Amino acid sequence: MFEYAPAPESRSVVDIAASYGLFIDGSFEPGRDGNVFKTVNPATEEVLAEVAAAGPEDVDRAVAAARRAFDGWSALPGAERAKYLFRIARIIQERSRELAVLESLDNGKPIRESRDVDLPLVAAHFFYYAGWADKLTYAGFGPDPRPIGVAGQVIPWNFPLLMLAWKVAPALATGNTVVLKPAETTPLSALFFADVCRQAQLPPGVVNIVTGAGDTGAYLVAHPDVDKVAFTGSTAVGRQIARTVAGTGKRLTLELGGKAANIVFDDAPLDQAVEGIVDGIFFNQGHVCCAGSRLLVQESIAEELLASLKRRMATLRVGDPLDKNTDVGAINSAAQLARITELAETGAAEGAQRWSPPCRLPERGFWFAPTIFTGVTQAHRIAREEIFGPVLSVLTFRTPAEAVEKANNTPYGLSAGIWSEKGSRILAVADRLRAGVVWANTFNKFDPASPFGGYKESGYGREGGRHGLEAYLA
Ligand code: NAD
Repeated sequence: MFEYAPAPESRSVVDIAASYGLFIDGSFEPGRDGNVFKTVNPATEEVLAEVAAAGPEDVDRAVAAARRAFDGWSALPGAERAKYLFRIARIIQERSRELAVLESLDNGKPIRESRDVDLPLVAAHFFYYAGWADKLTYAGFGPDPRPIGVAGQVIPWNFPLLMLAWKVAPALATGNTVVLKPAETTPLSALFFADVCRQAQLPPGVVNIVTGAGDTGAYLVAHPDVDKVAFTGSTAVGRQIARTVAGTGKRLTLELGGKAANIVFDDAPLDQAVEGIVDGIFFNQGHVCCAGSRLLVQESIAEELLASLKRRMATLRVGDPLDKNTDVGAINSAAQLARITELAETGAAEGAQRWSPPCRLPERGFWFAPTIFTGVTQAHRIAREEIFGPVLSVLTFRTPAEAVEKANNTPYGLSAGIWSEKGSRILAVADRLRAGVVWANTFNKFDPASPFGGYKESGYGREGGRHGLEAYLA
């Protein structure tokens, strides 16, 4: 492996305040009961800022602000709403260096990814939905599509700003107003976004940001004046939210977990497949709901493919997220690291063979070396449960039918990958996979024009594309 000199991005490009309030009705204000929590840099455990924890009264004020803003916002012609969205998109592009550094500091993801993947996609989502705002009558949802009202949105920590964009952009384009709760370990880019809204002169109350933990999210989704709930996160919390919302008349979309199969056939271009496998599971430290966390490889090429995968894994650079050479950054939190560690231990205990390339992990912070398990069977916990970390479970198959059966043998159904040179095989297999997104000879590719969502316990509803408008129209 080549030695590279460190090439750190400067953290001084972004200002982080010592403390943040809640963004309600266009301004920042402290929480009513004064509760706060700390957000840390997972690569160093350094405290980045203190953030207000919103209680029921704060959520009440935020929902009331969104309600007051709704009449004016929804009455604007679509072309006027589009101008705000375009403005937000352009400000995000202009400030993308600040935002990328902030996201890497708060989340632990490599700057290469926050700079080259997250931020361009965030801006693209706002541009894309800006384009829809004045064309809703042509979207296929009737001649006079109407917004739903106040949307309560709860998002996870793995793509903090991108998940915000997936939620906020279609909601605003369709004329809804928003109260959004970011995850408690990654609130900073959402608070920065609040400032972007101010800079874009978005009318007060159209976007409100309430920070806090699960209880804040629970107040928000249960709030009687919220008309639409959109949640991305774990299947367990998704279930709880579905119970809360049942029978209330609120609209609900859920984007939950996954355990995607990445299927490599014997005629696949192996070098590209190896890149796709690495992208599929080590991108964003594997903190990806649609990660290719189960590799299904045809038995006849398994040995060759695994040898090549191990060689490739040995070149992955794990370490400082702000170093531009880094491929794999920090695990987002101590709690997530404990979950990954526990599941990886059960993998070994249940008889699978564990392998990681030699790599030196930093002493402070939360780290987990890229890991693969071979000899995995379908009964193993590491083949069934979402690990949400840089851990790949490898299974083999002999026939396409067996590949499909194994791929579908999961409670989830968010995504899948197929690697083969034969177009007809790709189409035939894709047709039989119960997964919302199926990638062919690539993996983890996202585009705002392309809908995304799950089958089974991966949730319901679609985000992105024309389909993503539907969730926000009455
Ligand atoms: P989580 O469900 O614990 O938390 C997600 C969000 O929900 C956080 O903001 C959290 O504060 C909030 N929350 C927690 N309890 C709540 C409650 N009772 N009511 C309302 N809100 C509550 O999940 P996580 O650990 O933060 O994220 C990881 C999970 O998210 C993984 O399972 C992953 O697959 C999933 N995910 C799915 C997608 C997708 O698009 N399908 C995208 C990213 C992450």
